[in-house]
Amino acid sequence: MLTDSFGRTATDLRVSLTDRCNLRCAYCMPAEGLDWLPKPEVLTDDEVVRLVGLAVTRLGISEVRFTGGEPLLRRGLTAIVRRVAALSPRPEISLTTNGIGLDRLAAPLRAAGLDRINVSLDTLSEETFVKLARRDRLGDVLAGLAAAATAGLTPVKVNAVLMRGINDHEAAPLLRFCLDHGYQLRFIEQMPLDAQHGWRREEMVTADEILAELKLGGEFALTPDDPTGRGSAPAETFLIDGGPQRVGIIGSVTRPFCAACDRVRLTADGQLRNCLFARVENDLRTPLRAGASDDELEAIWLRCIAAKLPGHGINDAGFLQPARPMSAIGG
Ligand code: SAM
Ligand code: SF4
Repeated sequence: MLTDSFGRTATDLRVSLTDRCNLRCAYCMPAEGLDWLPKPEVLTDDEVVRLVGLAVTRLGISEVRFTGGEPLLRRGLTAIVRRVAALSPRPEISLTTNGIGLDRLAAPLRAAGLDRINVSLDTLSEETFVKLARRDRLGDVLAGLAAAATAGLTPVKVNAVLMRGINDHEAAPLLRFCLDHGYQLRFIEQMPLDAQHGWRREEMVTADEILAELKLGGEFALTPDDPTGRGSAPAETFLIDGGPQRVGIIGSVTRPFCAACDRVRLTADGQLRNCLFARVENDLRTPLRAGASDDELEAIWLRCIAAKLPGHGINDAGFLQPARPMSAIGG
């Protein structure tokens, strides 16, 4: 089991399959993009499956989420999903994507064993999409969402990040859209993980503001889903008009959930991270390519988890952003 010194056990593995992306979301990447990892540094499909297999069969990982960068850009994605779905015990398999190309891939991914999907959608306006993601692809994202629902990847979850002065007026329209289509919306507070270091605490839209914005106008009556707390779930969920439909708010900055964190991350180039905000990585790729045994690789996982800090430290005076941006770590 991957238990750290604070008693938390990691059961949820986030695997970045590529650092590349076909969008340039302002909260994530600079307009010009980034220097992508050279191909030889990226784990091969076999290497990904070996490391995920080890985590699932020996280390208690029960949920595997593929992400990136944009994971749909990874050519071997469907085959990787199929091979991970064949592991025993079979983990739950999910994907976080910007949705571009999902209109073609949703059905094959479902057939390969994908259980759940999160599609990122921050705006319903084509103009705002271009401003925010710097590409004119809103239509592709909406087509991808529809295909995910048709393929049975339900409930389709939608992730939205609000940026002040850009799309912060869209909380209610996004919720209305998701309710109309049967998608589950979750707002995520913007975190200091952009490559260009443009995050400013005073500019970020907080969970409280999002909640207030949703309540404004009285269109939605929101009540906490679980008045006793959110357990280990990062999102605080609210029932809409008494339920069963819900909206989630992930206050990673103002309402951190580090004390209940059950995640560990593997980057596309085979580095293990015990936190999104970790400043240290544990190299798995070098020993893997040098012929390390499962026991040797397992020892690296255990060392990495043992060193997990109690919290991300964003709210500490001396906070330093990790060297790698979100797109390279795997969100
Ligand atoms: N490209 C895929 C996508 O956009 O869904 C997967 C990778 S992306 C890094 C994963 C999630 O992280 C997305 O929902 C995105 O909105 C979110 N994200 C990216 N940068 C963020 C930031 N600085 N703060 C909060 N969320 C962020
Ligand atoms: Fe690409 Fe996702 Fe980052 Fe947007 S948030 S630039 S879609 S990796």
